[in-house]
Amino acid sequence: MNNEELIKEYRKQLFAVHAGTVAIVSVAEIAAYLIFVHIGHHSLSLESRYLWLNVVFPIILNFLAHMAARWLCKSESVNHNLKNYSIIYAMIATSFVVSLIHRDYIVTGCSYVFPIILSALYNDKVILKQSLWSSLILVSVSVATLFAEGKIDVTMLINIIVVYGLIAVSYLCGILSINFSEMNFSIIEKQAKENDRLEEEIDLDQMTGLFNHEAFYERLVPAIENSENGTKDLSLVMIDIDDFKNINDTYGHDEGDDVLKALAGILKGVCDENDYACRFGGEEFALILCGKSLEKAEEIVRSAMKNFYEYRFEFTDKSLTFSSGIARYQADETIETFFDRADDNLYTSKKTGKNKITL
Ligand code: GH3
Ligand code: MG
Ligand code: MG
Repeated sequence: MNNEELIKEYRKQLFAVHAGTVAIVSVAEIAAYLIFVHIGHHSLSLESRYLWLNVVFPIILNFLAHMAARWLCKSESVNHNLKNYSIIYAMIATSFVVSLIHRDYIVTGCSYVFPIILSALYNDKVILKQSLWSSLILVSVSVATLFAEGKIDVTMLINIIVVYGLIAVSYLCGILSINFSEMNFSIIEKQAKENDRLEEEIDLDQMTGLFNHEAFYERLVPAIENSENGTKDLSLVMIDIDDFKNINDTYGHDEGDDVLKALAGILKGVCDENDYACRFGGEEFALILCGKSLEKAEEIVRSAMKNFYEYRFEFTDKSLTFSSGIARYQADETIETFFDRADDNLYTSKKTGKNKITL
């Protein structure tokens, strides 16, 4: 699941939460009305002002807010961000409706806390700020009407301060949650990069940086599949340094290593991004040349031979050589037969004088 799908899923869940909230608020308002009727505060009549203002009107408003958000989300011309914001605004609308009916500032405070905290889970500071400001404006509208009606007393004033405090705290919680998620995300991203690096490292020969023996086979199998049973060119080159043991014996093992690294660099240099240069083991190398005919493969190997021959080492003036065998993949042959043909050709090069290519 990618980030966009995750947010879409979260948005879907927010819609479910809002639908549930609207249903609960509606049932609660109807129940409150029936209780008031039962205890004689209001009459069970269509003339009842309470019924229209505190029951029917809020239910319709909440329902409309929900449906408007749903409509925005379904509309193809609406962008991703606005779809995310729509459900948060529907929630704020519900908070406003609840706070208007009740005119109780603890209820108001609580009802605005949820949209703010839930908007933080989008990990988007813009929507968090928008829900903070919308909540502050709507609460201030309610407060202003109370002032206008002259209904403010000291307790209420303290409660209003508490409401603003609750809103501020929920905004801060939201910021904390977003910052924490960002830190988490960057740790996960770092770990993913490290995993990729380790995975690559597992495939590489430590000394030369070429693909190792296991990675050679892991790349040869898909290369054969991609050749579509030989309809596309695929050539395999086996390479073995000539008289390498002499180099170790004469100049030392470290100098031998230098030769291996130098040849690895040369082989990497002659391959393109479709090819794989591998250290098959010891002083043996393999090239998987994808999309290359025998002739092209021969040209590539000849260029590597020339570069290797001309390479100047610090420990000797002598030129070094390698022998090689090349095979082109043939329809229906197994990986073993393909490999054996290239290896047999290498053997032929060795037997017939070294420093040569056998096709
Ligand atoms: P040929 O021309 O027939 O290939 O003879 P050669 O001497 O190259 O082949 P041989 O198989 O006799 O010797 C290969 C040598 O490669 C023996 C081994 O010690 C050496 N070797 C294998 N791996 C390494 C390595 O990682 N570093 C060094 N320095 N030498 C290595
Ligand atoms: Mg060898
Ligand atoms: Mg050798």
